Amino acid sequence: MNLYSLIVSRFPQDRARPCFLLPDGGGVSYAQLHAGVGQMASLLLEKGVEPGDRVAFQGPKSVEAMMLYLAVLQIGAVFLPLNTAYTQAEVDYFLDDAEPAMFITDPVVMAAEAAECDPWHAIHPCEPGDLASLIYTSGTTGRSKGAMLSHGNLANNAQILVEAWGFTGEDVLLHALPIFHIHGLFVASHCALLSGASMLWLPGYDDAQVMAALPRATVMMGVPTFYTRLLANPAFDRAAAAKVRLFVSGSAPLLESTFAEFEALTGQRILERYGMSEALMITSNPLNGERVAGSVGFPLPGVELRIAGGETGVIEIKGPSVFSGYWRMPEKTAEEHTADGYFITGDVGRQDPDGRVWISGRAKDLIICGGLNVYPKEIELILDETPGVTESAVIGLPHPDFGEAVAAVVIGKGDEAAMISDLKARLAGFKVPKRIFFVETLPRNTMGKVQKNVLREMYAGTFR
Ligand code: AMP
Repeated sequence: MNLYSLIVSRFPQDRARPCFLLPDGGGVSYAQLHAGVGQMASLLLEKGVEPGDRVAFQGPKSVEAMMLYLAVLQIGAVFLPLNTAYTQAEVDYFLDDAEPAMFITDPVVMAAEAAECDPWHAIHPCEPGDLASLIYTSGTTGRSKGAMLSHGNLANNAQILVEAWGFTGEDVLLHALPIFHIHGLFVASHCALLSGASMLWLPGYDDAQVMAALPRATVMMGVPTFYTRLLANPAFDRAAAAKVRLFVSGSAPLLESTFAEFEALTGQRILERYGMSEALMITSNPLNGERVAGSVGFPLPGVELRIAGGETGVIEIKGPSVFSGYWRMPEKTAEEHTADGYFITGDVGRQDPDGRVWISGRAKDLIICGGLNVYPKEIELILDETPGVTESAVIGLPHPDFGEAVAAVVIGKGDEAAMISDLKARLAGFKVPKRIFFVETLPRNTMGKVQKNVLREMYAGTFR
């Protein structure tokens, strides 16, 4: 039941076929991947990593980083990827909390060392519930939580997606997503690996590289920002998209205007899906069937989905891809589950009589900037400590490129530019407010709570 056994069982018959296609024209075959993973597994074992140990990784996207991920699975250890934007202080928190046996920042150097090792051929036997990966999701209370994903969670969701999105060995996936997040690491890579497909492996989203890769791609997966950037590129037209059979979007809401513009230009409808670190993919628009703008589609097979309290409410789910809990936080885990075992997603939405799901917002005011989650509370806590600031409210404002941009409204006085540069030293760049507004009072409801919806309306035009 080790996920890596399942992956190896799905390798193409002809292992000389490329798994990774690189922008410089080079490639890595399935045979090379298999050997590289086995050598990396040997090296991890030599260094004393044991089943159940966490292996943390923060570093650039590379084939070697994927080999490291798969080697960690192979030996039954637990992969802990960290966002490359995290600062030292943030990384320290994760290392303290997860207590990894190893923290790796340069898998390329590691692969060079591993090249001296004989590949490890065994695959550590696992139960479906055994931990495979720990994915940290920032907490609204400021404390990050590690979502525990098992071999069974990942294997189940991967097989469902291969089926739902019609992946075959003939597919070539354009992979420009980061691999520190479930979207790039699990959703995209697993679909390709479980169908023996190839991946056009780009280090990140770059207009020129994506345009150059598109004529060879049959599937592209992206966050909404990828699609707004493509639409803003004058070179992107119907012909550029013609070879691609499927464009998938997720991690943040796809604007209906983006969906419509994309269809008008290319004749293709982006397939939007919805998921989260704690549950992997939950719903998807259909491959064969109507893809509706603004809807995230239907619950995937095996997912039981319901709306709490009325027509629109918090989405609750149950199913084989739902995580087993937050790392060393049994109380938090219990708090976010109902008595009858549903996970409370925190997303607010509704479901049509025909089963289609629509997401209207986030219960906890999560900001999603370019596909990355920003929890206002974390920034507010730091701002509130700043001299001259009495109180702060951090909100997301519509932004043409990032979908949402972080902004802060603070009671007090100060120098906006200096405050922003101080924050940059303490927080990952994507979390730092792009604007700070100084005010005398914040709007509040009768319970004394700051009305962030009012603030969002007041400043809505800031980045337009
Ligand atoms: P993460 O755990 O980083 O993957 O973030 C998960 C959150 O992203 C979800 O709880 C949703 O709030 C949001 N999200 C993901 N996909 C979509 C989507 N297609 N539409 C709206 N929100 C989404």
